Amino acid sequence: MKNPTQLKARFPYQFGGHNIGISVARGWFPAFAQLCADIDHLLGDDKRNFHWTQVKEKFGSARYYWAMDRRNPYVNVSIVDAAGSVLSVVRQEQEDESNPTSQVSRQISALIDQASGATSTSCIACGLPGRLDNYQGYVLVLCEKHADARHRNKLPSFWFEEEE
Ligand SMILES: [Zn+2]
Repeated sequence: MKNPTQLKARFPYQFGGHNIGISVARGWFPAFAQLCADIDHLLGDDKRNFHWTQVKEKFGSARYYWAMDRRNPYVNVSIVDAAGSVLSVVRQEQEDESNPTSQVSRQISALIDQASGATSTSCIACGLPGRLDNYQGYVLVLCEKHADARHRNKLPSFWFEEEE
């Protein structure tokens, strides 16, 4: 997958839900595409309405926000008070290891944390190893070549265009 259009065509459900903006930088795109594929594999046949709610850059690294149906079972709990009256309440079951959706959700969280953490050391423009570059009050993670280009105001646009 070379661009967001191909990625969306491959995993339409991940991009079809409500979101407040999905912007993937060129340098981070291959890792993000791999993340989408890994999540698809983890979800298996039941996609659980998984979708990205926001993808953006903040303080130099990528932030990936997502949502998924939890569908944890609800259980009825009957509480009998001292006077013998029964109060029935419905509460959501605690997340536990035996709940497959909890497991998948935790695994997805771990993958996403790892992927967004990796962007803090890879160039937003090309993906090569980079470090935080503070220029005119705004930090970006850039490789040496792109940091140099930035300081000469020659940094190419690192966001995909809408139609790409
Ligand atoms: Zn670079």
